Amino acid sequence: KAKEQRGSLHFFSDDLTLAVHHRMQLEQRLRRALEHDELCLYYQPQWSIDGSRMTGVEALVRWQDPEKGLISPAEFIPVAEQSALISQIGSWVLRSACEQIARWLVQGIQVPRVAVNVSPQQLHHHHLPQEVASILQQTHIPPTLLELELTESALMSPGVEAVEMLNALRVLGVSLAIDDFGTGYSSLAYLKRFPLNMLKIDKSFTDDLLASDEAKAIVETVVMLGHKLGLSVLAEGVEDERQRVELERLGCHQFQGYLKSRPLPATELEALLVNREI
Ligand code: C2E
Ligand code: CA
Ligand code: CA
Ligand code: CA
Repeated sequence: KAKEQRGSLHFFSDDLTLAVHHRMQLEQRLRRALEHDELCLYYQPQWSIDGSRMTGVEALVRWQDPEKGLISPAEFIPVAEQSALISQIGSWVLRSACEQIARWLVQGIQVPRVAVNVSPQQLHHHHLPQEVASILQQTHIPPTLLELELTESALMSPGVEAVEMLNALRVLGVSLAIDDFGTGYSSLAYLKRFPLNMLKIDKSFTDDLLASDEAKAIVETVVMLGHKLGLSVLAEGVEDERQRVELERLGCHQFQGYLKSRPLPATELEALLVNREI
């Protein structure tokens, strides 16, 4: 298709135009959502591998749109990541999670460690450790209750002084996890240099665990690696009791998944925290 525009001829596809238009619209709505405080956090429990103990929760952002209802981060995070919005969302998530921890502590609730997702762009800003430090200071929460989830590709991305940044974060007392382990830029050498606490095995390996010997071999190897390096290993996306049993047999330490709990609104997690025996 061709279109005359100021004398020059532009070729474009309708699909592409639509996609760009959709993205710009979403970006604009998202900017408004931030201003109007329409984002909220859900919390998905993480469990010791036998399911007896909640070891932590992962904070997952949602967009409560007045018209469209609850929108999944899978829909808007990728768009936000292509604009400056992701930094604002990242800051909002970090602050909100810490403020929630502080409120729970004030209520006398035994709070587990809360993991927050950090997007690659946040690592490109050298002030992430300062930002975390100031939020910790303002909310007065113990740094050990905060964990940051980073992806391999973000850590390996050029221009990111990952080792220095991770060291600065660890000095603050927060924990560090590698998210979606095994799916990104997989270089095992960095595991030695980075001061990490946890590896999160990506859901794709959990999905294939019972059907594929390769997936099983990979999970087994990651668990061994974790053991040797003193890192906790958590399997994501566990939906089936047979997967959990197999992960337990392979020596995996923790799991997270629909098998035991979906991401929950703060009030529902609260009920779970108040009623738990441990
Ligand atoms: P992720 O960090 O890998 O988070 C895990 C995703 O898997 C979550 O989807 C969670 O709801 C889902 N999940 C957990 N257990 C199961 C299960 O047993 N089965 C299935 N099918 N899914 C399960 P969610 O909440 O839709 O988030 C999607 C992605 O959006 C996240 O993947 C993360 O990459 C991103 N995201 C979410 N919140 C944030 C945030 O605050 N900041 C940033 N930068 N990204 C976020
Ligand atoms: Ca995550
Ligand atoms: Ca993940
Ligand atoms: Ca994922």
